[in-house]
Amino acid sequence: MSGRILIVDDMATNRIVYRARLAAAYYEPILAVDGESCLTLAVELRPDLILLDLSLPDISGHEVLRRLRGDLRTRDIPVIVLTAARDSETRLAAFSAGADDVIVKPASDQVLLARVRNLLRARAEIAYSEGGELQPAGMAEAALAYEPCATVAVVTGQAEAARRLQRDLSGQLRDRLVILSRAQALAEASTAGRGEGVPDVFIIHDEDADAAASLRLVSELKSHQATRHSAVCVVGRAAEGEEAAIAFDLGADDVVAPHVTATELALRTRSLLRRKRQGDRRRARIEDNLRLALVDPLTGLYNRRHAAQQLPLIAARALEEGRDFAVMVVDLDRFKTVNDQHGHAAGDAVLVEVARRLRANLREGDLLARIGGEEFLAVLPHSSTPEARLVAERLCEAIDERAIRLATGQSLKVTVSIGVAVSALEGGAGVSVDRLVEQADLALLESKGAGRNQVTYRLSAA
Ligand code: GH3
Ligand code: MG
Ligand code: MG
Repeated sequence: MSGRILIVDDMATNRIVYRARLAAAYYEPILAVDGESCLTLAVELRPDLILLDLSLPDISGHEVLRRLRGDLRTRDIPVIVLTAARDSETRLAAFSAGADDVIVKPASDQVLLARVRNLLRARAEIAYSEGGELQPAGMAEAALAYEPCATVAVVTGQAEAARRLQRDLSGQLRDRLVILSRAQALAEASTAGRGEGVPDVFIIHDEDADAAASLRLVSELKSHQATRHSAVCVVGRAAEGEEAAIAFDLGADDVVAPHVTATELALRTRSLLRRKRQGDRRRARIEDNLRLALVDPLTGLYNRRHAAQQLPLIAARALEEGRDFAVMVVDLDRFKTVNDQHGHAAGDAVLVEVARRLRANLREGDLLARIGGEEFLAVLPHSSTPEARLVAERLCEAIDERAIRLATGQSLKVTVSIGVAVSALEGGAGVSVDRLVEQADLALLESKGAGRNQVTYRLSAA
């Protein structure tokens, strides 16, 4: 796990103690003696976490927090505030300023390290899936000022506690509050799919002192697909000592003592929500990047890379099912003259419309990719030669039958040539994918040679 931790404290003894504790746990400590150097080092060294003392000689810890949160480069670095103050106002002010957690000094190693691990864990998962590098948030994220209303579920078996929590929290959170029994929370975890509509935060309240059951529920929620990205907060006896460390290790995102005030619980919930949304945004960005790597931006069709990945899979499945499949290479005829006579933008518009017509004339399960400038590949699983013939003729006609209207109002007539190869599986032998595409390419050349706007077939021997 990456673990560069910036320790900000004006007292040399404190810095030395925390540095020793963190280094013993294999983290990489960096030290700052005041607020300004904290802000500078946070930008320059991008720590994975900041341990921040509130009383600093130059600027207050609260101001440091506000500035960290206000800077896109440091906005997402988790911050644990360390304070000697036992009063709740200090804690609340720290949460309001953007702290992810607040620990009252002196803190045991166990508590400190469990909370550090907890905040680093989510970051490590994300960094891993982003290839080891956490990117600073981009402009698109900065513009995201509107936060949708979240759902916060309070999980408790006690009607009285449920009512009290609901009353207390509803005054302080603008999110939807629901009360769930343990069984209902488990049912949410077992929901099929990726968790649309499940609560964003689960607050597990174990006032009945059954800490083991709360811990089991944490682990269930964190191990199911639907709820694994929801934040989980445990309120109750489990917050004390060793059980807190276990709760964090099972995946809890926060663990709070039973006497927590409603205001602090609301602030901690907001902090959990903020972190959950960060995670949601990063995951969405990763999915976007993965999708973009496979899609041609002009036509929205898959690109050559995706086609190359899919072809062997389609071939293997065909072999398994003992059914033929067809490969077609579709190339625009004399496309260069379209560009030459009408301009590149007109050429692009033609490519988009041709892609649309090809897609509209294929089945949902057929693969269509743009594999070159004006060249497309269609792969039809479950297609024997007669079926492939029908489809190829249809594609040819779909382009030929109607002129394409450009944005300028002009109409343009284009045609395509197609080469088709069908796997002929005899005696269960597999067909080489490369050979099949090669055959389709040769067939395409024949179509071109024979005058274009037509289809040529090859039946590939296994
Ligand atoms: P043929 O009938 O033999 O296939 O002739 P052709 O003109 O279609 O083939 P050639 O390979 O000579 O030319 C392909 C042209 O496609 C050249 C290139 O400028 C154009 N082209 C490739 N990609 C794009 C693109 O993304 N947009 C536009 N507008 N044109 C493209
Ligand atoms: Mg061409
Ligand atoms: Mg070409």
